[in-house]
Amino acid sequence: MYNFSAGPAQLPKEILNKAKEDLLDWHGSGMSVMEMPFTSDEYKAISERAHNDLRKLINLPDDYHILFLQGGAYAHFALVAMNLLGQKQTADYIQTGHWSTRALNEARRYGDINIAASSVSSGFNRIPPYEQWQLNPEAAYCHITTNETANGVQFHDIPKLPIPLVADVTSDFLTRQLDVSQFGLIYASAQKNIGPTGLTIVIIHNTLLNQAMEMVPTVFNYGRQASNNGRVNTPPTYSVYIAGLMFSWLLEQGGIKAIEQANQHKAQRLYEFIDNNSFYQCSVDPSARSIVNVCFELTDMSRTEDFLSEASKKGFVNLKGHGIRGGVRVSLYNAMPIEGVDALVAFMKTYSASQS
Ligand code: PMP
Repeated sequence: MYNFSAGPAQLPKEILNKAKEDLLDWHGSGMSVMEMPFTSDEYKAISERAHNDLRKLINLPDDYHILFLQGGAYAHFALVAMNLLGQKQTADYIQTGHWSTRALNEARRYGDINIAASSVSSGFNRIPPYEQWQLNPEAAYCHITTNETANGVQFHDIPKLPIPLVADVTSDFLTRQLDVSQFGLIYASAQKNIGPTGLTIVIIHNTLLNQAMEMVPTVFNYGRQASNNGRVNTPPTYSVYIAGLMFSWLLEQGGIKAIEQANQHKAQRLYEFIDNNSFYQCSVDPSARSIVNVCFELTDMSRTEDFLSEASKKGFVNLKGHGIRGGVRVSLYNAMPIEGVDALVAFMKTYSASQS
């Protein structure tokens, strides 16, 4: 069985087995990680290791803080605005699909939000060219969604901006190399490439820490959490523990560079097949195709339900496109092996042949 879920998504088997081994008794402590006080030496060791491994993996400069928070990226759509708008009270957003639209709609409750560029008129099938962005030099930050999970659109070039760049990296964090020093802040829900739901990672530059609005809840005040080592309240301890296992696993795979190569290879194989088989079509511009969420249609859309049902019978599950778009979505996160893609391509070939 191959699970192509867009999230919560599959985790590497090695990690699940390790978690199973540790479930009742973590390293001879007599406790499950779920049962440990977050102030205990045991949990501190788990959390510190996770921080250090993540820093190493993404080559994070010293002037950034890593925060292990809760709420999910959706909560942080609002929290980013509440923490960063500051005196300027205005921010730029680049609208590239479903999730950036949600992000800007949440931010609008707290300040003056300018859509500096949008691809809505082309059905969100590309990234608006940087030369066309109408940035406001007075904006507190510019927000992008590096990978639009529902639309299958991804930034392949990250622009260098005169104002802090903020990114929702929920669906492509740790799947490809990212120069974090280009960003003022990045944030990601964990349940795609990092671990279980419940953990939201926020990585923030020192200079952006202390401009939160009065009304921001203390536990979501990035500056307060940073100065308290993320311990203003109970962190999502079990999710942090699994995330830590994921960071070690990624280091063992050869780091982000190696995993990026593997991910590109998987996506290329699938796009190449789709582009060469008229039974399927991908409407996303080749310059902006996501390497982690491959979205496509059957040329005869009326066959989509049957395709999904036949795929599921053969063990290819969770391929249904996001509700706003329909069609098919194949999520190829870090834990999906190339064998899964090969098997899916073989199925798609047989299916198309059987229908013509
Ligand atoms: N941003 C992106 C890019 C997403 O893919 C998702 C979830 N699919 C979210 C934000 C929302 O995350 P959550 O449901 O964890 O709040």
